[in-house]
Amino acid sequence: MRRIRHAADFTPLVRLVRHEWSKCSILSHGMAIRFNQLVRLDAGNAPRESLRPLFGLDAETLSALLAELREPAFRARQLTEALYRQHITELDAISTFPSTLRRRLAGAGWQVGRPQIVQIFGSVDGTERYLVECQNGTGRSDHDTVETVWMPEGDGGEDGDEAESGEPKDTKSWSRATICVSSQIGCAVNCQFCLTAKLGLQRNLTPGEIAGQVVSVMERHKVEVGRDRLNLVFMGMGEPFLNYANFMAAVRLLVRAVGLSPRRMTVSTSGIVPGIEQFAQEPPDLRPKLAISLNAPNDAVRTEVMPINRKWPIQSVIDAVRRIELRPRERITFEYVLLSGVTDRPEHAQQVARLVRRTNLPAKVNLIAWNPGPGISYSMPAPESIEGFKAALAAEGVPVYLRQPRGRDIYAACGQLKRTVEG
Ligand code: SF4
Repeated sequence: MRRIRHAADFTPLVRLVRHEWSKCSILSHGMAIRFNQLVRLDAGNAPRESLRPLFGLDAETLSALLAELREPAFRARQLTEALYRQHITELDAISTFPSTLRRRLAGAGWQVGRPQIVQIFGSVDGTERYLVECQNGTGRSDHDTVETVWMPEGDGGEDGDEAESGEPKDTKSWSRATICVSSQIGCAVNCQFCLTAKLGLQRNLTPGEIAGQVVSVMERHKVEVGRDRLNLVFMGMGEPFLNYANFMAAVRLLVRAVGLSPRRMTVSTSGIVPGIEQFAQEPPDLRPKLAISLNAPNDAVRTEVMPINRKWPIQSVIDAVRRIELRPRERITFEYVLLSGVTDRPEHAQQVARLVRRTNLPAKVNLIAWNPGPGISYSMPAPESIEGFKAALAAEGVPVYLRQPRGRDIYAACGQLKRTVEG
Protein backbone atom coordinates (compact mmCIF):
# COMPACT_ATOMS: atom_id res chain seq x y z
CA MET A 1 0.00 0.00 0.00
CA ARG A 2 1.29 3.42 -0.87
CA ARG A 3 1.39 5.45 2.26
CA ILE A 4 3.23 8.51 3.29
CA ARG A 5 4.00 8.92 6.91
CA HIS A 6 6.54 11.63 7.07
CA ALA A 7 6.36 14.83 5.17
CA ALA A 8 10.09 15.21 5.53
CA ASP A 9 10.58 12.01 3.59
CA PHE A 10 8.90 13.42 0.57
CA THR A 11 10.69 15.08 -2.30
CA PRO A 12 11.76 18.61 -1.41
CA LEU A 13 9.81 20.00 -4.33
CA VAL A 14 6.54 19.03 -2.81
CA ARG A 15 4.97 19.39 0.55
CA LEU A 16 2.67 16.86 2.09
CA VAL A 17 -0.57 18.06 3.52
CA ARG A 18 -2.88 15.46 4.93
CA HIS A 19 -6.27 15.77 3.45
CA GLU A 20 -9.09 16.57 5.83
CA TRP A 21 -10.91 13.38 5.33
CA SER A 22 -14.07 14.33 7.10
CA LYS A 23 -14.62 17.27 4.77
CA CYS A 24 -14.90 15.07 1.75
CA SER A 25 -18.55 14.24 1.37
CA ILE A 26 -18.13 11.84 -1.50
CA LEU A 27 -15.39 9.82 0.04
CA SER A 28 -16.99 9.67 3.45
CA HIS A 29 -19.48 7.28 2.01
CA GLY A 30 -18.55 4.31 4.11
CA MET A 31 -15.42 3.51 2.16
CA ALA A 32 -12.73 1.97 4.31
CA ILE A 33 -9.84 4.21 3.38
CA ARG A 34 -6.91 4.96 5.59
CA PHE A 35 -6.54 8.61 6.44
CA ASN A 36 -2.98 8.78 5.26
CA GLN A 37 -3.67 7.18 1.92
CA LEU A 38 -4.36 10.68 0.69
CA VAL A 39 -1.58 13.09 0.05
CA ARG A 40 -1.64 16.56 -1.29
CA LEU A 41 1.26 18.06 -3.10
CA ASP A 42 2.02 21.70 -2.71
CA ALA A 43 0.95 23.26 -5.96
CA GLY A 44 3.31 26.15 -5.41
CA ASN A 45 5.54 25.07 -8.25
CA ALA A 46 2.73 24.59 -10.69
CA PRO A 47 2.57 27.28 -13.32
CA ARG A 48 0.11 29.88 -12.20
CA GLU A 49 -0.28 31.80 -15.39
CA SER A 50 -1.36 30.50 -18.70
CA LEU A 51 1.00 32.25 -21.02
CA ARG A 52 2.31 30.38 -24.01
CA PRO A 53 2.86 26.72 -23.19
CA LEU A 54 5.48 24.98 -25.30
CA PHE A 55 4.38 21.56 -24.12
CA GLY A 56 1.77 20.36 -26.55
CA LEU A 57 3.38 21.88 -29.63
CA ASP A 58 4.57 19.33 -32.15
CA ALA A 59 8.03 19.21 -33.70
CA GLU A 60 6.98 21.15 -36.79
CA THR A 61 5.49 23.98 -34.76
CA LEU A 62 8.55 24.13 -32.53
CA SER A 63 10.73 24.30 -35.64
CA ALA A 64 8.70 27.18 -36.99
CA LEU A 65 8.91 28.96 -33.66
CA LEU A 66 12.68 28.67 -33.47
CA ALA A 67 13.10 29.56 -37.12
CA GLU A 68 11.20 32.75 -36.36
CA LEU A 69 13.76 33.46 -33.67
CA ARG A 70 16.46 32.87 -36.32
CA GLU A 71 17.81 29.85 -34.51
CA PRO A 72 19.38 26.91 -36.38
CA ALA A 73 17.22 23.84 -37.07
CA PHE A 74 18.92 21.67 -34.47
CA ARG A 75 17.51 23.87 -31.70
CA ALA A 76 14.02 22.57 -32.47
CA ARG A 77 15.24 19.00 -32.10
CA GLN A 78 16.85 19.90 -28.78
CA LEU A 79 13.65 21.51 -27.57
CA THR A 80 11.51 18.54 -28.64
CA GLU A 81 13.89 16.21 -26.85
CA ALA A 82 13.85 18.32 -23.70
CA LEU A 83 10.06 18.59 -23.56
CA TYR A 84 9.05 15.08 -24.47
CA ARG A 85 11.99 12.80 -23.65
CA GLN A 86 13.79 14.54 -20.81
CA HIS A 87 10.53 15.70 -19.24
CA ILE A 88 11.82 19.12 -18.27
CA THR A 89 9.31 21.43 -16.61
CA GLU A 90 11.23 24.73 -16.61
CA LEU A 91 12.88 26.61 -19.46
CA ASP A 92 15.99 26.96 -17.33
CA ALA A 93 16.37 23.18 -17.31
CA ILE A 94 17.00 23.03 -21.07
CA SER A 95 20.70 22.49 -20.66
CA THR A 96 21.36 22.32 -24.39
CA PHE A 97 20.10 25.88 -24.87
CA PRO A 98 22.27 28.91 -24.20
CA SER A 99 20.89 31.08 -21.43
CA THR A 100 20.31 33.90 -23.92
CA LEU A 101 17.88 31.74 -25.88
CA ARG A 102 16.10 30.61 -22.74
CA ARG A 103 15.71 34.25 -21.75
CA ARG A 104 14.42 35.23 -25.19
CA LEU A 105 11.79 32.51 -25.03
CA ALA A 106 10.74 33.52 -21.54
CA GLY A 107 10.71 37.17 -22.54
CA ALA A 108 8.33 36.34 -25.37
CA GLY A 109 5.98 34.71 -22.87
CA TRP A 110 6.89 31.10 -23.53
CA GLN A 111 7.02 28.61 -20.72
CA VAL A 112 7.07 24.83 -20.57
CA GLY A 113 3.50 24.78 -19.28
CA ARG A 114 3.16 21.05 -18.83
CA PRO A 115 0.24 19.91 -16.65
CA GLN A 116 1.38 18.94 -13.18
CA ILE A 117 0.20 16.44 -10.63
CA VAL A 118 -1.08 18.40 -7.66
CA GLN A 119 -2.83 15.72 -5.65
CA ILE A 120 -2.37 11.99 -5.24
CA PHE A 121 -4.69 9.34 -3.88
CA GLY A 122 -3.19 5.96 -3.16
CA SER A 123 -5.26 2.78 -3.17
CA VAL A 124 -4.69 -0.34 -1.15
CA ASP A 125 -4.19 -2.16 -4.47
CA GLY A 126 -1.33 0.09 -5.62
CA THR A 127 -3.42 2.18 -7.99
CA GLU A 128 -2.86 5.91 -7.83
CA ARG A 129 -5.35 8.55 -8.84
CA TYR A 130 -4.07 12.03 -9.58
CA LEU A 131 -5.55 15.43 -9.86
CA VAL A 132 -3.59 17.02 -12.64
CA GLU A 133 -3.61 20.76 -12.89
CA CYS A 134 -3.94 21.96 -16.44
CA GLN A 135 -3.22 25.24 -18.06
CA ASN A 136 -5.85 26.26 -20.45
CA GLY A 137 -3.72 28.51 -22.65
CA THR A 138 -6.27 31.28 -22.48
CA GLY A 139 -4.57 33.40 -19.88
CA ARG A 140 -7.34 32.75 -17.39
CA SER A 141 -6.17 32.21 -13.88
CA ASP A 142 -8.42 29.29 -13.04
CA HIS A 143 -6.61 26.08 -12.34
CA ASP A 144 -8.65 23.37 -13.86
CA THR A 145 -7.86 19.92 -12.73
CA VAL A 146 -8.45 16.65 -14.45
CA GLU A 147 -8.08 13.09 -13.26
CA THR A 148 -5.56 10.51 -14.36
CA VAL A 149 -5.01 7.00 -12.99
CA TRP A 150 -1.92 4.82 -12.73
CA MET A 151 -2.50 1.08 -12.43
CA PRO A 152 0.58 -0.96 -11.77
CA GLU A 153 0.35 -4.66 -12.41
CA GLY A 154 2.65 -7.55 -11.81
CA ASP A 155 4.50 -9.02 -8.88
CA GLY A 156 5.45 -6.80 -6.01
CA GLY A 157 3.39 -3.90 -7.27
CA GLU A 158 1.50 -3.46 -4.06
CA ASP A 159 4.00 -3.47 -1.28
CA GLY A 160 7.44 -2.23 -0.51
CA ASP A 161 9.11 0.13 1.87
CA GLU A 162 9.68 2.77 -0.78
CA ALA A 163 6.02 3.70 -0.55
CA GLU A 164 6.53 4.82 3.02
CA SER A 165 8.72 7.67 1.83
CA GLY A 166 6.07 8.98 -0.50
CA GLU A 167 8.20 8.35 -3.54
CA PRO A 168 6.83 6.13 -6.26
CA LYS A 169 8.29 2.67 -6.22
CA ASP A 170 11.31 1.75 -8.19
CA THR A 171 10.38 0.84 -11.75
CA LYS A 172 11.59 -2.70 -11.11
CA SER A 173 8.71 -3.29 -8.70
CA TRP A 174 6.16 -3.41 -11.51
CA SER A 175 6.43 -5.33 -14.71
CA ARG A 176 3.82 -3.43 -16.65
CA ALA A 177 1.44 -0.58 -15.99
CA THR A 178 -1.50 1.22 -17.47
CA ILE A 179 -2.25 4.93 -17.40
CA CYS A 180 -5.90 5.93 -17.76
CA VAL A 181 -6.02 9.32 -19.44
CA SER A 182 -8.77 11.97 -19.57
CA SER A 183 -9.68 13.87 -22.71
CA GLN A 184 -12.14 16.39 -21.34
CA ILE A 185 -12.94 17.98 -18.00
CA GLY A 186 -16.31 16.46 -17.21
CA CYS A 187 -18.40 14.87 -19.91
CA ALA A 188 -21.53 15.67 -21.85
CA VAL A 189 -22.53 12.13 -22.71
CA ASN A 190 -24.54 11.49 -19.57
CA CYS A 191 -24.13 7.75 -19.13
CA GLN A 192 -26.40 6.99 -16.21
CA PHE A 193 -23.92 4.78 -14.36
CA CYS A 194 -20.98 7.21 -14.48
CA LEU A 195 -19.91 9.76 -11.88
CA THR A 196 -18.06 11.91 -14.41
CA ALA A 197 -21.37 12.56 -16.12
CA LYS A 198 -22.51 14.40 -13.00
CA LEU A 199 -19.98 17.14 -13.74
CA GLY A 200 -21.41 17.88 -17.15
CA LEU A 201 -18.92 19.05 -19.74
CA GLN A 202 -16.67 21.78 -18.42
CA ARG A 203 -14.23 22.00 -21.28
CA ASN A 204 -12.13 20.14 -23.79
CA LEU A 205 -8.52 19.45 -22.94
CA THR A 206 -5.82 20.66 -25.29
CA PRO A 207 -3.34 18.21 -26.88
CA GLY A 208 -0.71 19.30 -24.35
CA GLU A 209 -3.09 18.74 -21.46
CA ILE A 210 -3.90 15.23 -22.67
CA ALA A 211 -0.32 14.22 -23.45
CA GLY A 212 0.89 16.07 -20.36
CA GLN A 213 -1.05 13.76 -18.06
CA VAL A 214 0.88 10.85 -19.52
CA VAL A 215 4.29 12.48 -19.34
CA SER A 216 3.72 13.69 -15.77
CA VAL A 217 2.81 10.18 -14.62
CA MET A 218 5.70 8.66 -16.59
CA GLU A 219 8.04 11.05 -14.87
CA ARG A 220 6.64 10.24 -11.43
CA HIS A 221 7.15 6.51 -11.96
CA LYS A 222 10.35 6.88 -13.94
CA VAL A 223 8.91 5.01 -16.89
CA GLU A 224 11.52 4.47 -19.54
CA VAL A 225 10.34 4.31 -23.14
CA GLY A 226 11.51 1.13 -24.84
CA ARG A 227 12.26 -0.61 -21.57
CA ASP A 228 9.01 -0.57 -19.62
CA ARG A 229 5.73 -2.02 -20.72
CA LEU A 230 3.28 0.83 -20.58
CA ASN A 231 -0.30 0.81 -21.83
CA LEU A 232 -2.43 3.89 -22.27
CA VAL A 233 -6.20 3.80 -22.13
CA PHE A 234 -8.13 6.91 -23.06
CA MET A 235 -10.95 6.00 -20.75
CA GLY A 236 -10.75 8.69 -18.10
CA MET A 237 -12.96 11.73 -17.90
CA GLY A 238 -14.67 12.70 -21.11
CA GLU A 239 -15.56 11.33 -24.50
CA PRO A 240 -12.40 11.47 -26.66
CA PHE A 241 -14.36 11.52 -29.91
CA LEU A 242 -16.15 14.69 -28.83
CA ASN A 243 -12.72 16.31 -28.60
CA TYR A 244 -11.43 14.51 -31.63
CA ALA A 245 -8.83 16.89 -33.07
CA ASN A 246 -7.14 17.51 -29.73
CA PHE A 247 -7.28 13.85 -28.77
CA MET A 248 -5.62 12.74 -32.00
CA ALA A 249 -3.06 15.55 -31.81
CA ALA A 250 -2.16 14.24 -28.35
CA VAL A 251 -1.82 10.71 -29.73
CA ARG A 252 0.52 11.98 -32.45
CA LEU A 253 2.63 13.73 -29.82
CA LEU A 254 2.75 10.63 -27.66
CA VAL A 255 3.77 8.47 -30.61
CA ARG A 256 6.15 10.76 -32.47
CA ALA A 257 7.65 12.90 -29.72
CA VAL A 258 7.33 10.80 -26.56
CA GLY A 259 8.00 7.52 -28.37
CA LEU A 260 5.06 5.39 -27.21
CA SER A 261 3.47 2.77 -29.42
CA PRO A 262 -0.11 3.26 -30.64
CA ARG A 263 -0.53 -0.50 -30.38
CA ARG A 264 -0.35 -0.09 -26.64
CA MET A 265 -3.02 2.59 -26.63
CA THR A 266 -6.76 2.03 -26.53
CA VAL A 267 -9.40 4.69 -26.95
CA SER A 268 -12.89 4.06 -25.72
CA THR A 269 -15.91 5.76 -27.21
CA SER A 270 -19.53 5.74 -26.17
CA GLY A 271 -20.32 5.37 -29.86
CA ILE A 272 -19.89 8.78 -31.47
CA VAL A 273 -20.40 7.69 -35.07
CA PRO A 274 -18.82 10.69 -36.86
CA GLY A 275 -15.78 10.28 -34.61
CA ILE A 276 -15.49 6.58 -35.40
CA GLU A 277 -15.75 7.36 -39.11
CA GLN A 278 -12.97 9.91 -38.82
CA PHE A 279 -10.92 7.48 -36.75
CA ALA A 280 -11.22 4.93 -39.55
CA GLN A 281 -9.27 7.35 -41.77
CA GLU A 282 -6.28 7.60 -39.43
CA PRO A 283 -3.04 5.94 -40.53
CA PRO A 284 -2.54 2.61 -38.70
CA ASP A 285 0.86 3.68 -37.39
CA LEU A 286 -0.78 6.52 -35.48
CA ARG A 287 -4.07 4.95 -34.49
CA PRO A 288 -4.79 3.49 -31.06
CA LYS A 289 -6.95 0.40 -30.73
CA LEU A 290 -10.67 0.99 -30.41
CA ALA A 291 -13.05 0.04 -27.61
CA ILE A 292 -16.77 0.57 -27.85
CA SER A 293 -18.53 1.24 -24.59
CA LEU A 294 -21.48 -1.05 -25.29
CA ASN A 295 -22.90 -1.65 -21.82
CA ALA A 296 -26.21 -3.10 -22.90
CA PRO A 297 -27.49 -6.10 -24.81
CA ASN A 298 -29.95 -4.19 -27.00
CA ASP A 299 -31.06 -0.70 -27.97
CA ALA A 300 -33.86 -0.50 -25.43
CA VAL A 301 -31.59 -1.11 -22.46
CA ARG A 302 -28.76 0.89 -23.96
CA THR A 303 -30.94 3.94 -24.43
CA GLU A 304 -31.89 3.67 -20.78
CA VAL A 305 -28.32 3.54 -19.49
CA MET A 306 -26.70 5.58 -22.27
CA PRO A 307 -29.12 8.14 -23.68
CA ILE A 308 -26.68 8.87 -26.52
CA ASN A 309 -27.94 5.61 -28.01
CA ARG A 310 -31.00 7.51 -29.22
CA LYS A 311 -28.79 9.45 -31.60
CA TRP A 312 -26.49 6.58 -32.58
CA PRO A 313 -28.05 3.20 -31.95
CA ILE A 314 -25.99 0.04 -31.77
CA GLN A 315 -26.21 -0.90 -35.43
CA SER A 316 -25.02 2.52 -36.60
CA VAL A 317 -22.03 2.22 -34.29
CA ILE A 318 -21.20 -1.24 -35.61
CA ASP A 319 -21.51 -0.05 -39.19
CA ALA A 320 -19.04 2.74 -38.49
CA VAL A 321 -16.61 0.39 -36.74
CA ARG A 322 -16.60 -1.87 -39.79
CA ARG A 323 -14.94 0.89 -41.78
CA ILE A 324 -11.78 0.62 -39.72
CA GLU A 325 -9.06 -1.38 -41.34
CA LEU A 326 -7.75 -3.48 -38.48
CA ARG A 327 -4.10 -4.34 -38.11
CA PRO A 328 -3.10 -8.01 -38.04
CA ARG A 329 -4.31 -9.62 -34.81
CA GLU A 330 -6.10 -6.42 -33.77
CA ARG A 331 -9.50 -6.81 -32.15
CA ILE A 332 -12.28 -4.41 -31.34
CA THR A 333 -13.12 -4.38 -27.66
CA PHE A 334 -16.66 -4.11 -26.42
CA GLU A 335 -16.73 -2.74 -22.89
CA TYR A 336 -19.71 -3.96 -20.92
CA VAL A 337 -20.66 -2.64 -17.50
CA LEU A 338 -22.67 -5.14 -15.48
CA LEU A 339 -25.45 -3.39 -13.58
CA SER A 340 -27.37 -5.62 -11.24
CA GLY A 341 -30.77 -6.53 -12.68
CA VAL A 342 -30.33 -4.12 -15.59
CA THR A 343 -27.61 -5.55 -17.82
CA ASP A 344 -26.45 -8.71 -16.07
CA ARG A 345 -29.26 -11.18 -16.70
CA PRO A 346 -28.57 -14.54 -18.38
CA GLU A 347 -30.65 -13.58 -21.42
CA HIS A 348 -28.56 -10.45 -21.77
CA ALA A 349 -25.43 -12.56 -22.13
CA GLN A 350 -27.09 -14.47 -24.97
CA GLN A 351 -28.05 -11.21 -26.66
CA VAL A 352 -24.56 -9.78 -26.29
CA ALA A 353 -23.06 -12.95 -27.79
CA ARG A 354 -25.43 -12.72 -30.76
CA LEU A 355 -24.65 -9.06 -31.21
CA VAL A 356 -20.90 -9.59 -31.15
CA ARG A 357 -21.14 -12.47 -33.62
CA ARG A 358 -23.33 -10.39 -35.89
CA THR A 359 -20.65 -7.70 -36.15
CA ASN A 360 -18.44 -10.19 -37.91
CA LEU A 361 -15.45 -8.37 -36.47
CA PRO A 362 -12.53 -9.82 -34.57
CA ALA A 363 -13.73 -8.77 -31.14
CA LYS A 364 -13.59 -9.40 -27.45
CA VAL A 365 -15.77 -8.35 -24.55
CA ASN A 366 -14.43 -6.74 -21.42
CA LEU A 367 -16.81 -7.11 -18.53
CA ILE A 368 -16.73 -4.52 -15.78
CA ALA A 369 -18.66 -5.01 -12.58
CA TRP A 370 -20.20 -1.61 -11.94
CA ASN A 371 -18.27 0.51 -9.50
CA PRO A 372 -20.54 2.35 -7.08
CA GLY A 373 -20.80 6.10 -6.85
CA PRO A 374 -22.85 8.40 -4.66
CA GLY A 375 -26.05 9.61 -6.23
CA ILE A 376 -26.20 6.74 -8.70
CA SER A 377 -28.96 4.29 -8.01
CA TYR A 378 -27.63 1.16 -9.71
CA SER A 379 -26.35 -1.79 -7.71
CA MET A 380 -23.26 -3.86 -8.06
CA PRO A 381 -23.84 -7.25 -9.65
CA ALA A 382 -23.61 -10.33 -7.46
CA PRO A 383 -20.39 -12.35 -7.93
CA GLU A 384 -22.41 -15.29 -9.26
CA SER A 385 -24.06 -13.16 -11.96
CA ILE A 386 -20.67 -11.86 -13.03
CA GLU A 387 -19.29 -15.36 -13.29
CA GLY A 388 -22.46 -16.64 -14.96
CA PHE A 389 -22.40 -13.84 -17.52
CA LYS A 390 -18.77 -14.44 -18.31
CA ALA A 391 -19.28 -18.19 -18.62
CA ALA A 392 -22.30 -17.72 -20.89
CA LEU A 393 -20.34 -15.50 -23.28
CA ALA A 394 -17.39 -17.88 -23.27
CA ALA A 395 -19.72 -20.80 -23.99
CA GLU A 396 -20.94 -18.91 -27.05
CA GLY A 397 -17.36 -18.65 -28.27
CA VAL A 398 -16.97 -14.96 -27.45
CA PRO A 399 -13.55 -14.03 -26.04
CA VAL A 400 -14.40 -12.47 -22.71
CA TYR A 401 -12.36 -10.92 -19.90
CA LEU A 402 -13.33 -9.56 -16.55
CA ARG A 403 -11.63 -6.28 -15.77
CA GLN A 404 -10.56 -6.14 -12.17
CA PRO A 405 -11.64 -2.98 -10.39
CA ARG A 406 -8.54 -0.99 -9.61
CA GLY A 407 -8.55 1.75 -7.03
CA ARG A 408 -12.20 1.44 -6.20
CA ASP A 409 -11.48 2.63 -2.65
CA ILE A 410 -10.10 5.92 -3.95
CA TYR A 411 -12.71 6.44 -6.65
CA ALA A 412 -10.23 5.64 -9.38
CA ALA A 413 -12.14 2.77 -10.95
CA CYS A 414 -14.13 2.89 -14.17
CA GLY A 415 -16.91 5.44 -14.05
CA GLN A 416 -15.80 6.92 -10.75
CA LEU A 417 -13.68 9.87 -11.81
CA LYS A 418 -15.18 13.03 -10.44
CA ARG A 419 -12.78 15.27 -8.57
CA THR A 420 -13.58 13.84 -5.20
CA VAL A 421 -11.93 16.47 -3.05
CA GLU A 422 -12.89 19.75 -4.56
CA GLY A 423 -15.88 21.64 -3.33
S1 SF4 B 1 -18.84 6.68 -19.25
FE1 SF4 B 1 -17.41 7.95 -20.44
S2 SF4 B 1 -18.72 8.81 -22.07
FE2 SF4 B 1 -20.11 8.06 -20.48
S3 SF4 B 1 -20.50 9.87 -19.16
FE3 SF4 B 1 -18.77 8.72 -18.27
S4 SF4 B 1 -16.94 9.71 -19.10
FE4 SF4 B 1 -18.67 10.31 -20.41
